[in-house]
Amino acid sequence: MGVLVVEGVFSFHTLRDACLAGQPVGWREFVKTYSPVTRHLLGHYFSRQDQAGLLARVFREARGEQGGIWKDFQGTSEKEFLLHWRQFVIEQARRARGPAPETPLNPENFWQLLETFPPLQREMLILGFRRYSPEQLADLSKFSVQASGEILEQAQRRLEEQLGKAVGEGLQRHDHDALFAAIEQQRGEKCCPGRLFARLADGQISWREREEAERHIENCLHCLDRSAQYREVARFFHVLPPAATGDLQDLLEALGLPVEEPLRKQTWWQRLLGG
Ligand SMILES: [Zn+2]
Repeated sequence: MGVLVVEGVFSFHTLRDACLAGQPVGWREFVKTYSPVTRHLLGHYFSRQDQAGLLARVFREARGEQGGIWKDFQGTSEKEFLLHWRQFVIEQARRARGPAPETPLNPENFWQLLETFPPLQREMLILGFRRYSPEQLADLSKFSVQASGEILEQAQRRLEEQLGKAVGEGLQRHDHDALFAAIEQQRGEKCCPGRLFARLADGQISWREREEAERHIENCLHCLDRSAQYREVARFFHVLPPAATGDLQDLLEALGLPVEEPLRKQTWWQRLLGG
């Protein structure tokens, strides 16, 4: 497969093709593009594991054989790929960690809780139980810091009523990965395809499709959770700064990828501006 990479400028599609063609320069770009969000996910959900080792493991598995992560990706856009990548990262890290810590929450009692909240608050609560603080929730959702904090407190009180005082204080900050892993297994025949979550979030969807999707999500914990996952991964992918040079070099070296930048690293517009 001939892949034309114009002086180090990759689009999502040239990046995919370069990786599928096994070009080290493509994989280096892949690591560069996806390591900040990956680092965040691992640090947030798997803070007890050795981070550098886990990060290298995820990318090594992604590269795999003959295209690795790209082989089972059926989508066409970067947005869709983000959800696919998030799932892959979490699965790899779960495998490295072993069994998840115990939680009193399961898909049934968690849904019972969420159902007592209006649909708009449910997705934010899912992110709350993924241990994001009210400040982070305000950044990830449409709710203010204060409203996020209040809704979380309300959820804690309702859980105490539902499950008894034994749930303990600050349940939201516990590790509920066992709950989320169980929710991910509950995919039904009518569940939304990955591309839909990006289109929903961006508003690139007809009102009819939107209405249909929203009606499904109102009754489906699996898709509600996927919607929250998309919101999370898309947000961090866009706001996190690029990997620090030293960190990136260490990771590339651990993966056996070339460390040097391409000889001509200026993009055409930088040259145009004489930068
Ligand atoms: Zn569904």
